[in-house]
Amino acid sequence: MLAAIFVVTCGLVIMPSCSNSDNAVKPDTSALDNWQAGRTVTAEAVKAFGGIDKCFAAEPIPDGVWARMQGKTYKENPYIGRDDLRHIRALHWDYDNQMHVGEMIVNVQIADRVAAILRQLFDAKYPIQRMLLPDVYDADDETQMRDNNSSCFCYRAIAGTTKLSKHARGLAVDINTLYNPYYKDRTDGTRFIQPATAEAYCDRSWDFPYKITHDDLCFRLFTDAGFEWGGDWTSCKDFQHFELIEE
Ligand SMILES: [Zn+2]
Repeated sequence: MLAAIFVVTCGLVIMPSCSNSDNAVKPDTSALDNWQAGRTVTAEAVKAFGGIDKCFAAEPIPDGVWARMQGKTYKENPYIGRDDLRHIRALHWDYDNQMHVGEMIVNVQIADRVAAILRQLFDAKYPIQRMLLPDVYDADDETQMRDNNSSCFCYRAIAGTTKLSKHARGLAVDINTLYNPYYKDRTDGTRFIQPATAEAYCDRSWDFPYKITHDDLCFRLFTDAGFEWGGDWTSCKDFQHFELIEE
């Protein structure tokens, strides 16, 4: 009841102040204010938040994000620490033209490059379905790949060694992982596929959403920035995978 908040003073009714702009519905910017990766946002919300430029950044890992990573993507180790990593904020479009909030942890060495690539992919409306930290999936790679998540950093040593994979150092980025699987043909004629649900997408001869090819922008931007594509490997194929070429 609006009338209940009118103040009556000396016979005058004082109306609550009201301008025309207050009548417009204010865009919901909460997904951006709190950087809630996975939520969709509207162009109006991005504008009200401060614009697209404000939505792309590579910065030291915020305390809340660092806390979420502990025991999941980050484990205490002598090789890589918080200062070696950066938190990237990005927006991305999915195949249905919805704009999403995304985030990624990467090595400081590639942070500016990856943020710039994600911005160019966004500007070109290159579809990326999900860009969540793997911590959402308890750092389980198979689960995040089945969900078509795109990510970079996840600490793990290669089994039986102290050698770190490129993901463990935040130097490899996986994009649209369900539709761009990893596979290796075994000598017994069987094929090992990750994620296991991606068998249909190992066949690259047909068209499907999110497919990375030599012709697309994602391939071009990463390879121009000094990364190699796992889709070009011969002993196995890793179509989702772009890793920094190191000297
Ligand atoms: Zn990878």
